[in-house]
Amino acid sequence: MNTVMSTLARTCFRTMHSDFPQKIVSWYTVNGRKDLPWRRNISGYRIWISEIMLQQTQVKTVIPYYQKFIKYFPSLSKLLQASEDEILSLWAGLGFYRRAKNIYKACRIIETDFSGRFPRTFDDLIQLPGIGRSTAGAIMSIAYQQPFPILDANVKRVLSRYIALDQNLKQPEKILWQASEEMTAKENIFEYTQGIMDLGATVCTAAKPSCQQCPVEKGCGSAHMVLANKPKRRSTANPTRKLHFVLPMSDKGFLMQKKLEAEYWESLWVPLSKDLIGNIPINASVDLQHKLSHLNLKIKIDITQAAPDEQLLSNQEYKWINKTDIAAYAMPTPIRKLLEHYV
Ligand code: SF4
Repeated sequence: MNTVMSTLARTCFRTMHSDFPQKIVSWYTVNGRKDLPWRRNISGYRIWISEIMLQQTQVKTVIPYYQKFIKYFPSLSKLLQASEDEILSLWAGLGFYRRAKNIYKACRIIETDFSGRFPRTFDDLIQLPGIGRSTAGAIMSIAYQQPFPILDANVKRVLSRYIALDQNLKQPEKILWQASEEMTAKENIFEYTQGIMDLGATVCTAAKPSCQQCPVEKGCGSAHMVLANKPKRRSTANPTRKLHFVLPMSDKGFLMQKKLEAEYWESLWVPLSKDLIGNIPINASVDLQHKLSHLNLKIKIDITQAAPDEQLLSNQEYKWINKTDIAAYAMPTPIRKLLEHYV
């Protein structure tokens, strides 16, 4: 790769590549993914939810979750009435549950500091939990059509290849933000922001950029060179975690606990940890396997009959969940399926 960063770092990107924004805008007009559900009926609220879901998750995975979420909470005012559990229950399966918890926390701030209205300025947006500079920039540029730069994973890839970023730089983010600030369109910002996101997702892809189809091929410092220089990644297997639960069950419901640890399934309802309950008579055992993006789970669940008013001596958050109320609680998919089997 022809590294030109030492010069570029001291140079105005916009002067050197003045036609970059317009090429992205024109490309989006013809090739953009305008049928994505968050690109219809656009509002700050809807763009916020979509951007949070899209953090660390692919578009095709997000689409059904976004549609379900917006169907359940079509407006910010509806979401403001939701409990953390209701939000988490719609998030179950999407992973990275801290995002859903941050939405709930942001709702409390919107209620108290913004009178229940979604913020409309960058400085206000960036105060909300889960909203960083790039997400705030995406909301400002897409929902409010203000020329704020973004730097999500797709945009980082396009810009770092376009400016032929020196891979050995100590602070690549600083240079990339400079490039994004200077190259972001001052007009047609709505089309530009979505265009550069789409270009990264569909043309300048991580594995195989299609430079011959790229609107900024001429001027790109890495055109047709990425694969030749790309080191092959060795695939590494995810670690396996063994889990042992006990599920006390009565005619009416299940005794469950809210999981606290952040490593996986944070704040979801699961059966009791075996460590918590100790040795008790077991009626049946179920073995399950479940894959997460970063972990393989080997799960053993012991089923035991219990009186419906039985309580635990524990400072963990736990409760009896009625069989008719399962849908209202956020649970991991394999746990929900198991419970449904016994309903
Ligand atoms: Fe990416 Fe190729 Fe376009 Fe450069 S020319 S931005 S490497 S797709």
